[in-house]
Amino acid sequence: MLNMKCPCGNERDFSSCCEIIHHDLSKAETAEKLMRARYTAFVLGNIDFLYHTFHPTTRRYQTKKEIESWAKQNKWMQLEILNSTYSTVEFKAYYLDQHFDVQVHHEKSKFKQVQHIWYYAEGMLIN
Ligand SMILES: [Zn+2]
Repeated sequence: MLNMKCPCGNERDFSSCCEIIHHDLSKAETAEKLMRARYTAFVLGNIDFLYHTFHPTTRRYQTKKEIESWAKQNKWMQLEILNSTYSTVEFKAYYLDQHFDVQVHHEKSKFKQVQHIWYYAEGMLIN
């Protein structure tokens, strides 16, 4: 993993970008940083991180198994951040599906803080 460019698209090494957040959620100072770290977790298959970054009110509807199958059945290609505000991020995530067709996941995500730590609250798909 040394000197691997961060999959989130920042021009930085993984070790000085999303990896820091993967080890310590409180290091995501903004909603966008958490969103990027979650995308990177999809790329790397870090299911525990994806699970734990759901806001507590929505986490109970998630299962690690479902997160894992969504993360692993697709090949995540690229993240494009279209707009980010204090608590929302609109993005496009490009991936190859099981038939190797390029798909775009276009979402506006909402984030909420609990004790100064950002969590993914909900996402609205945009067509
Ligand atoms: Zn990153």
